[in-house]
Parts: sequence; structure tokens; C-alpha cells
Amino acid sequence: MKAVAVFPGKADSMHLADLPEPSVDDVPDGRGVLVEVLRVGVDGTDEEINAGEYGAAPEGYDFLVTGHESFGRVLEVGPNVHDLGSGDYVTATVRRPGASIYDLIGAYDMTTDDTYYERGINLLHGFLTERYVEDPEYIVKAPAALKEVGVLMEPVSIVEKGVEQAYEIQRRLGIWRPRRAAVVGAGSLGLLATLVLRLRDLEVTTLARTDPPTPNSELVEALDARYKSTHELPISQAAEKYGPFDIIFEATGASSVAFEGMEALGKNGVLVLTGISGGDRKIEVPGDRILTGFVLGNKVAVGTVNANRRYFERGVQDVAMAEARYPGWLGRLLTHPVRGLDGYAEMVRLLNEEKDAIKVFVEVTDL
Ligand code: BGC
Ligand code: ZN
Repeated sequence: MKAVAVFPGKADSMHLADLPEPSVDDVPDGRGVLVEVLRVGVDGTDEEINAGEYGAAPEGYDFLVTGHESFGRVLEVGPNVHDLGSGDYVTATVRRPGASIYDLIGAYDMTTDDTYYERGINLLHGFLTERYVEDPEYIVKAPAALKEVGVLMEPVSIVEKGVEQAYEIQRRLGIWRPRRAAVVGAGSLGLLATLVLRLRDLEVTTLARTDPPTPNSELVEALDARYKSTHELPISQAAEKYGPFDIIFEATGASSVAFEGMEALGKNGVLVLTGISGGDRKIEVPGDRILTGFVLGNKVAVGTVNANRRYFERGVQDVAMAEARYPGWLGRLLTHPVRGLDGYAEMVRLLNEEKDAIKVFVEVTDL
């Protein structure tokens, strides 16, 4: 069976590999779910993996099958699978449990292990292939009516986790009624964060480098959120004009932006950090002002990575709500389809070069 893979650590090594055909019996105790892959989205992580900067092959392989944003249809289930059946549309979580106490309770996204396992990223093959088999614990069902946008479920889950972590942390306040939020970054994650915060009825200001109008700024405005370019309005000024911000959702991965967010955050606010820069740059920050503001303002900053099934389930609900409230909006994120696994070179090209792409995804099989 065909799969798209890289040789981890080797730049531009994306190629077609051959994988053995999976079977429901590959999962013990009759718990196998065999899934036909329909669509797989790609993102900055895949770009880094193809650049040889990130990713590791599973034990016994010299290649890693990529793709962690999956959407598929169940083909067959083992005798001990009861709540999934053939024909169901599904997405799959990315991380698999390690050994820490968090892993043992299903919160594998909170692992404290040094080694973590992520399908399509680290030590486990991903979904850019024809079929895969998995335990139902890691499979999340989506209604057929959402199939056109189902490939967005994984990035949505990342946003759901960030937002839910923020709300969970803010229970410390006894009463918290967030009114205004800022999202920094208007790529696919920033746009989805804008959506999820709008679905919670916050007034959202989304900040990004590019001057409007762009497809991204139009998508922000279609949610009745405000788009501002940081050239025109740096984060601190946006906070004066449109804040105080109860939540700032950082989705750029630029460390300077993270510190600007700390300074611009409102009293009792929460800053959610989702991006990583991977680099080793040193930057200068107004440390005294940030520290004083954090202490006197009871502020919180939280880092958040990956998502477990509960956030995928939340994501399915929000995607359904989004389709009801902003019909067609999610579909507009799916800007760059690539036909078939054989199109992997075009997928890489779009990922590297097409800076206007919001979401590049591979149509592996027809929906
Ligand atoms: C994925 C996450 C993953 C993270 C770190 C992201 O691109 O969406 O699921 O945890 O990379 O590997
Ligand atoms: Zn990702």
C-alpha cells in the first residue's frame, strides 16, 4: 500500500514508500478499527519534518510516514468494537500514551515523558497512506454532514485544548466573565482560534503582520471579528484601543510576540501560547515591566501542545456549531487541495512556496 514518507533528518526527502496492508487483527483483543483515509491536511510541522529539522522514524524503519491531520471512513471493525461501524466518518488523535501518570488517565497530551509518540511526527507512522488501523480510544466520530470540513478536526482540536485550558485555569477567579480576546496570527490556527472564541461570544481582535484586505482578513471579518495588521497597530496599542484583553491566543510561534502578549494582557488575563519557534534566538524584552504587570495584575501564561480525544470531541461540536452559525466559513479555509498520494511533490511545493495557502490538504480518496 502506498504511503508518503520522509527520511527523518534528511532535507527534502519526501517520497512514496510502501507499507504492508493493515488489518483489524493488528490491534489486540478484537479492538481494531480499519479506516480508509479520505483527506490529510499538512502544516508547518510537516514543513519542518520535510526540512529534516524535526521528526523521527518508528523503531525498525528508516522512514517516517507523515501526515497527522486525518479524516477517514471506517471500513471494518473488530468484534470488540461497539460504538463504531463501517461507513462512519472519523478523525484520529495524534499522540499515543507513554508511561507518565497523565498518559495512564488518557491525558497523553500532558505527558511528562521525555520521549513522546505522535503519529506522522515522532516515532509512529502517520496517515498519509491509503488505510490505517487503530484502537477506538484514538478514533473520534464526526457526523457525515461535516465530511467536507472534517480534515480540519486536528487543528481545531489544538485550538479547543488551548481555549479550554484557559477557561479551566480561570476558575481560580471564582467569577470570570471574559469579554474581549486577541488572537495573534491569522494562519489556519489563528483563524480557527478566532472562530472558537467567537463561538463563545467574545469580542475578538485578530492581529497579523499582513495589511488587509487578504483572504485571511476577510475570513476574520466574516466572523464579526476585527482584523488589524501589527504594522498599523502593535499588540500593546491594540490592547489600549480594543482591550483590556481577557484572553490572548498566540498562534505565530515568534517568541517576541509571546513577550509582547505578556505585556499587553489585561489584569486577571490569560495568555495561551501554542506556537513554537524551534530556534535559539535571543531577544531583548522589557523584563521589569512584564514582571510587575504579571504580579500586580494576577496574570497567567500557559503553554499548550497537542490534544487528547476530549478536545477532538469538543471540536466536532464546535465544527457543527460553526457550520450552523457561519455556514461555509470552514470550507473557505480549504484553499489548496492536492489530488492523491502521488501528488506529494505538489503538496511539498505548496507547503513551502504558496504563502497564500490557508490549508493545503491531500485528497487521498473521494469523500
Ligand atoms: C501537531 C500536534 C503536535 C505538535 C508537536 C503539531 O503540528 O498538530 O498534534 O503535538 O505539532 O509535535
Ligand atoms: Zn499540526
